[in-house]
Amino acid sequence: MRPFDLTGRVAIVTGGNGGIGLGIAGGLAEAGAAVLLAGRNRAKGEAAARHLGDRAAFTVADVARKADCERLVAEAVEKFGRLDILVNNAGTSVRKSPQDYTEEEWHRVLDTNLTGAFLLCQAAHPHLLRAGGGKIINIASMNAVFGAPHNVPYAASKGGIAAMTRGLATAWAADNIQVNAILPGWIETEMTAGAKAHVAGLEQAVVARTPAGRWGQPRDLAGLAVFLAAPASDFITGTSIPADGGYSIRA
Ligand code: NDP
Repeated sequence: MRPFDLTGRVAIVTGGNGGIGLGIAGGLAEAGAAVLLAGRNRAKGEAAARHLGDRAAFTVADVARKADCERLVAEAVEKFGRLDILVNNAGTSVRKSPQDYTEEEWHRVLDTNLTGAFLLCQAAHPHLLRAGGGKIINIASMNAVFGAPHNVPYAASKGGIAAMTRGLATAWAADNIQVNAILPGWIETEMTAGAKAHVAGLEQAVVARTPAGRWGQPRDLAGLAVFLAAPASDFITGTSIPADGGYSIRA
């Protein structure tokens, strides 16, 4: 067995057109997988696929729409012949005090971050079965564990991702499908650029609290994603693994 070899495997990475998703997609592609990136921004997506090379493609899909989730999975199978790896990375956040959210904002965050991930798992399941097993990697957050005052729907969605990961792992272990979550620490992306713009001192506070002494970069997630997508992790399922430079173990 070549424990980290993904040659011949096919992956979907939602939100793979930028940020953490693109960092993960790059790792999977370098390990040998064909990758279908999905997101709403076509120009960004096509540029990302070109950057990854011949065995990468992009399709427009809004994970908050069930029909798009089903079409995305069907397109991956049609284009590359099978499906082995699903990375549920697409995510969004609305920052405000809990008492100020509209019902639409709550549903937008939950539909994108949690319901979309579940619908994609459902759509992927028969294809993973057909491949003899597979890997699902869900991107959660430190907010699945810690409380913060200005992103309650986001935290609810990410706590839900961690719980969903455990449930699916138990349900599909007998199908040889491993389901795990990654809890990224603070990573420099468009999403956290927004947070930095709104929270004075965030840049320095993260550096001070993170034992590694720096913000993470999207590529910092690639190694763990390859591990969770590869035969090396075949006996690991239902876990939520931090990739945070030590942020979560700091007293
Ligand atoms: P970015 O904002 O850089 O990327 C988010 C990605 O999700 C984009 O590619 C976006 O593409 C896509 N996306 C958003 N909404 C949808 C949708 N409805 N349908 C399809 N794609 C969508 O953020 P990050 O890279 O930082 O975040 C990636 C994941 O990591 C998220 O789940 C986030 O919650 C999580 N995370 C990030 C952390 C960080 O510090 N950066 C920390 C912890 C977790 P498009 O706009 O084209 O749709």
